[in-house]
Amino acid sequence: MSQFDLTPEQKDIRNAAREFARGEFPDRAREADVTQRCPRELYPMAADLGFQGLFFPEAYGGAGLGYLEFCLVSEEFWRVDPGLGQSLTSITFGADLLLLYGTEEQKQRTLPPLCTGKAIMGAAITEADAGSDITEVRTTAVLDGDEWVLNGTKMFITNGTLADFLIVYCLTDPDAPARHQRHSCILVETDRPGYAATKLLGKLGIRASDTAEVVLDQVRVPAGNLIGTRGQGFQQFMEFFNRTRLHVAAQGVGVAQGALDKASRHVKNREQFGRPLAALQGVQFKIAEMATRVEAARGLVYRAAAQVDAGTIDHGLIAMAKWFAGETGVRVTDEALQLHGGYGYLAEYDVERFYRDAKIVELYEGTKEVEKQIVARCILGKV
Ligand SMILES: Cc1cc2nc3c(=O)[nH]c(=O)nc-3n(C[C@H](O)[C@H](O)[C@H](O)COP(=O)(O)OP(=O)(O)OC[C@H]3O[C@@H](n4cnc5c(N)ncnc54)[C@H](O)[C@@H]3O)c2cc1C
Repeated sequence: MSQFDLTPEQKDIRNAAREFARGEFPDRAREADVTQRCPRELYPMAADLGFQGLFFPEAYGGAGLGYLEFCLVSEEFWRVDPGLGQSLTSITFGADLLLLYGTEEQKQRTLPPLCTGKAIMGAAITEADAGSDITEVRTTAVLDGDEWVLNGTKMFITNGTLADFLIVYCLTDPDAPARHQRHSCILVETDRPGYAATKLLGKLGIRASDTAEVVLDQVRVPAGNLIGTRGQGFQQFMEFFNRTRLHVAAQGVGVAQGALDKASRHVKNREQFGRPLAALQGVQFKIAEMATRVEAARGLVYRAAAQVDAGTIDHGLIAMAKWFAGETGVRVTDEALQLHGGYGYLAEYDVERFYRDAKIVELYEGTKEVEKQIVARCILGKV
């Protein structure tokens, strides 16, 4: 199938990610889903092989590559196991914002340890009453001398109990006339007094990945931890999402491809009515439709990522990729489970885990409805 004209180096990265995931994930994936944690030894292993900070400049310990390369790694990891894949690729979540708007000091302090697997980052935007509408965020940050004092509660924070650094989206200018100029982004070291995180258990899928409620109670950080311009947090996060939605979209491609792999194997091996399921035309049509959806989603994601790497931000295309890849993950895992019949319903066949894992791509970093609104606005303009 299409290689989207990947360069030899990109193919090498994709193959290395595939080899690592196939070698290390299968024996750990089911237990990680049950225990709801990612085995710690995987973090340094992935870092040693250079999978962390792929898109960071070399000056900060990264590989100096782009989002397309990061998408290739996300796709391959999710193809083998979404929960472990999400755990390992989310270590640098939030760093994209520092790369765009951080000071040199902030970047030097935080990015190199992320690349070596010695530190973990996260980004805390969502609150109980502020999900899709992030202008409703009420966590406050007030300047007191040369320190910011933060108070509030964040919900659903990836890496909340594991992170060393969090980028926190908070209200700094509540009286600004425009709703989009009231928030700022502040770097918070999680070992500061007043930081508390509680792991959220019982997620539907990607259960190996840490998700937490985070409470900030009089947390003090230096004034210099402000990222970029005060009051510009909303605009900063919109730019951030234009990058991070790419690799979330790649997750949708990966989980779909992984489910298609399993379904293709199963229908060739399973016999009913005296022949393999794969010989039945109805089954062939299903496989053909699944494969076509995956390939279409992959094409959108690679094109959107390549454009960002080339310096063009087409947020309509990025939103299309994120929505379509998310839906592809959900549809293809559903069909894959169906093709396994009753066996698909058992943990032993792993496809039920993919079915549960896929749904998150339609929810986080912009629900599918939010993505469609962005696409529609690009086509219709403001109506
Ligand atoms: C496992 C997991 C990890 C996460 N990680 C993070 C993280 O690291 N950091 C972080 O900040 N957040 C994180 N989130 C939060 C996630 O981004 C939000 O859940 C998501 O943005 C949706 O917000 P909400 O849950 O409040 O849903 P709501 O905003 O309440 O939406 C509910 C439903 O209403 C629809 N809806 C809302 N507004 C509109 C509209 N205008 N038009 C049409 N439909 C609309 C939505 O599409 C959705 O279907 C995570 C969530 C999960 C589940």
